[in-house]
Amino acid sequence: MSRAARMWALEPATYQSPAQVALLGEGAPRIPFPIYLVEHADGLVLYDAGLDPDHAGDPVGGYGEMAERIRIDFRHEHLVEHHLDRLGFTLADVTTVVASHLHFDHAGALKRFPHATTYVGAGELEYARAPERFASTWFRTEDFDDRHGIAWTELSGDRDLFGDGAVTALHLPGHTPGSLALLVRLRGQSFILTGDVVHTRGAYDAEIHYHGDVDSVAARASLRRLAHHERASAAQVWIAHDPEDWERYGGAGEKR
Ligand SMILES: [Zn+2]
Repeated sequence: MSRAARMWALEPATYQSPAQVALLGEGAPRIPFPIYLVEHADGLVLYDAGLDPDHAGDPVGGYGEMAERIRIDFRHEHLVEHHLDRLGFTLADVTTVVASHLHFDHAGALKRFPHATTYVGAGELEYARAPERFASTWFRTEDFDDRHGIAWTELSGDRDLFGDGAVTALHLPGHTPGSLALLVRLRGQSFILTGDVVHTRGAYDAEIHYHGDVDSVAARASLRRLAHHERASAAQVWIAHDPEDWERYGGAGEKR
């Protein structure tokens, strides 16, 4: 079994939900919109693409009232191109993109990588283009518009991206039809990055699906599969939007 060389969690844009503030007070932690970068001998992998880079500095202008309601903080220093530059890479160095799903807070910068292979779970694109009404607020068709020339590859199951076990996309549908987690094996530790397969540590421990999941039965089955992957791989599950997981795994910076 091979290992990925390094992984970075990039300093992310954040938000604060009013419900959480009401529960925890003004001191409630900000919730990250994480983007991860994985360096493998055969290429650079981006897992998730965060918010639309065209709206950095003015999220309310780009996303409207919702951005104000959930207090989005999205500045130029959060941009993926800024992070790549800081780490000595360019956009062109990213050869593989894995989209956990196509909600606006994960898919905004996919359009920056038309030269890369972009993996998306089976059924995700079709659903994102015609979502049910209750789920429609999280999808923005401009994020995955054909004019961006994104080179989609749909995965109907798990996929070992480099054939050596170092980086594996895990198809865990329910939050959306094509939700993908990512198992990353580093030399010193391994992670399963969840995307939105689960939103909080408490929900994972109690096996509670999220109210906005498209298919609650599939979502709960995916939580059980995630726990199975966690045991089988001895990896640590890193829940994307959980601020305590962000702290637990050291937040932004390099992991080996
Ligand atoms: Zn989502």
